[in-house]
Amino acid sequence: MYRKILVANRGEVAIRVIRSARELGIKTVTVYSEGDKESMHVLLSDETVCIGPAVPSKSYLNPVALISAATLMNCDAIHPGYGFLSENAQFAEYVKQCGLGFIGPEPKHIKLMGDKVEARKLAKKLNIPIIPGSEGRVASLKAALKVGNIIGYPILLKASGGGGGRGMKIVRSAKELEIAFYQTQKEVTSAFGNSDIYIEKYLLSPRHIEVQILGDGKGEIVSYGLRDCSIQRRHQKVVEEAEPCHLSPEVKEKLESNAINLGQHLRYLGAGTIEYLLDGANFYFIEMNTRIQVEHPITEMITRSDLIKEQILISAKRRLSLTQSPTFYGHAIECRINAEHPETLLPSVGTINGLHLPGGPGVRVDTFIYDQYSIPPHYDSLLAKIICWDHCRVSCISKMRRALKETIIRGIHTNVPLHLKILDRPDFIQGQYDINFLSKCLDQVVK
Ligand code: ADP
Repeated sequence: MYRKILVANRGEVAIRVIRSARELGIKTVTVYSEGDKESMHVLLSDETVCIGPAVPSKSYLNPVALISAATLMNCDAIHPGYGFLSENAQFAEYVKQCGLGFIGPEPKHIKLMGDKVEARKLAKKLNIPIIPGSEGRVASLKAALKVGNIIGYPILLKASGGGGGRGMKIVRSAKELEIAFYQTQKEVTSAFGNSDIYIEKYLLSPRHIEVQILGDGKGEIVSYGLRDCSIQRRHQKVVEEAEPCHLSPEVKEKLESNAINLGQHLRYLGAGTIEYLLDGANFYFIEMNTRIQVEHPITEMITRSDLIKEQILISAKRRLSLTQSPTFYGHAIECRINAEHPETLLPSVGTINGLHLPGGPGVRVDTFIYDQYSIPPHYDSLLAKIICWDHCRVSCISKMRRALKETIIRGIHTNVPLHLKILDRPDFIQGQYDINFLSKCLDQVVK
């Protein structure tokens, strides 16, 4: 078992990893940038190392700084969290080459699944439905127009190396495509350093449903169930729930069995998420994330498990705690509390000047903020995740409403009012929503 691990991240996920490690008797070393000296993850770990300036490319995205810190501090392994270098195959490879454990999948699987065109090809080979679209990369406008002609508009231009909801462009006609193609190519090159684009039919009102899996690297794969992440803004998740409502047992079984098939084919190691779009009776694979997800706590709540502990145990021992799916209990919802202006929706920076976070039975808050904490402008806007659990969905919604109402974060703007609005909408309460839900209700909130 590991004695000491380095947490190559910041914010709530760094604290989340510290918690599981500590319960396993493992010491933690956190890293921090010059912009994060006052961050809570720095205070909570056993040891800590400054790895460079606030700008992420010089600190949290700098493999040399991270691996040097791990070596200097005598760590046995690195947990990458999510975001930053968590899905960087080269980083995982360097970590292993330096004799450290990487708490995540094999680098070759990170690389394969990080290339969405290759992931699509693999899904197709395994008979997992994919959204109609291009066979592979689309290198020219002529080729893009051809695909558009065959599958019909609207279409979605997607970056092969994209992520985090970025690098996607909806195109509604061939005329629009003539302009959008080059523009998107330029945008994705500057965002991801890779101009590769592929095309999918743009589905008008699908749901985003995903399956959490764990694998032992030897072909044993266990499903930890499904999550509905359809409540999104700019293709980024805002509210998630487990398990999804109004899903027939047949569809649920298909989503899980296809996810397990994919994991078994790869001999996948650790935690991974297979994401689908569900469109009426049809479902389509969109991607696999080879890391822990932001929304993993809802799965933990309904399975009474600790997925980060599982990640650490699997990485150290290559063994799963369970050989079949866990038992599922009740319902869980997560609201992502972001620092953002309610009207402009732009990130809100400043100092927290008065803080009260919710509690009580069935309420979990994963956060790193504290009273008088100044939010650095260099990182994402996630402040906290409020996760509620209850025996059924109706009481879970009611609990979340109560938890949000007792959340006080003064000094900066947050999206708490937006969450309350979402929870009060009859369509949400009835579980009738798709990926367009938030854009429909946002107008009302902004006014
Ligand atoms: P990322 O890796 O950037 O998160 P994904 O491929 O996982 O990108 O898609 C993120 C979200 O974008 C989906 O949950 C969905 O809302 C939307 N999306 C992706 N592909 C399509 C599509 N073909 N049609 C409609 N919406 C899509």
